[in-house]
Amino acid sequence: MAKRDYYEILGVTRTANADELKKAYRKLALKFHPDKNPNNKEAEEKFKELSEAYEVLSDPKKRQMYDQFGHAGAQGFGGGAGQGFGGFGEGASFQDIFNDVFGDFFGGGGPRGRGGHDRRQRGADLRYTMSVTFEEAALGCEKQISFMRHRPCQTCKGMGTKNGEAPTACGQCGGSGEVRFQQGFFAVSRPCPQCHGEGSVIKNPCPSCRGERAVQAPAKLAVTVPAGVNSGQRLKLKGEGDAGLSGGPSGDLYVVIQLAQHPLFERQEDDVLCEFPISFAEATIGVEVSVPTLTGMVSLKVPAGTPTGKTFRIKGKGFPRLGGYGSGDLFVRVIVDVPSQLTAEQREVLKKFDSLGQETPLKKQYQEKLKQLKRNP
Ligand SMILES: [Zn+2]
Ligand SMILES: [Zn+2]
Repeated sequence: MAKRDYYEILGVTRTANADELKKAYRKLALKFHPDKNPNNKEAEEKFKELSEAYEVLSDPKKRQMYDQFGHAGAQGFGGGAGQGFGGFGEGASFQDIFNDVFGDFFGGGGPRGRGGHDRRQRGADLRYTMSVTFEEAALGCEKQISFMRHRPCQTCKGMGTKNGEAPTACGQCGGSGEVRFQQGFFAVSRPCPQCHGEGSVIKNPCPSCRGERAVQAPAKLAVTVPAGVNSGQRLKLKGEGDAGLSGGPSGDLYVVIQLAQHPLFERQEDDVLCEFPISFAEATIGVEVSVPTLTGMVSLKVPAGTPTGKTFRIKGKGFPRLGGYGSGDLFVRVIVDVPSQLTAEQREVLKKFDSLGQETPLKKQYQEKLKQLKRNP
């Protein structure tokens, strides 16, 4: 599954400014919001896609990486899309939810603010799209990947404060991390907008992480890809996502497989399809040919009188079944390659061949059907 271009998803040009992006996102997010489209998987996917696109493009740094390196560039940032959408309280109005969602994105904060006093925070899950060739997918492989992820800031030891001082209790919520307000008959509580639900604020932020407690750092990993993987399948690397904060657990890294195009082969489930051209004479007389497979050449007997389009099955030469036994098959579709240019000599030989007369199966059938038609028009 190819990932769609972020600009295309938002329906804006590559030169769109922050305002245009925001407008486009707001309009589409309203349309595809899960609350407006209950139980609509497609809308949910669209909404996630939108959020991911907006998350990247609305951040100048991420946008620059994306412009330069495409999805691979944005991957290190781990699209937080889809995170935290499950937590909407029952009975909350659409407007409330919309504010929540937008509060998250426009505030630039990640999935924070659930814990009140507790500053422990689980690191975000990250996603990395890994391109593998047919051959790599067939045999399995080990690949090195490089990406960016959050590590606790070394300067402030993950405190977020300058000189390691303790954060100050938030004045707005009194340290509870929540604010309550009356809505009709109901008292509604919300994460405090001042401290984003953390209960404390950083007066003098650490200069290295600007109070974020974590910094982006490059990471390298060797990923073992099992034989038989296909596009869209995910490998979960537990604990290899963003580091948690203040003692929280790390997120996970999801490596999403993307099967690269192959010049000769097409994949259908665990089977491989390909075409193989042979000459008119070979199809007529029969021939033994050498055909490529995912694991080297094998020989294939094409019997005399093989029509174009006939498909031969070579058992067990497809992809191994992931988590199962055996393999798919290779289907070779023979194409009779009709010459487009002939030398004078070839032309003479073929004319002579034709004048000798022969009954070809299709012609014979056709003539009989034509005769019947003439008898009872
Ligand atoms: Zn720091
Ligand atoms: Zn507060």
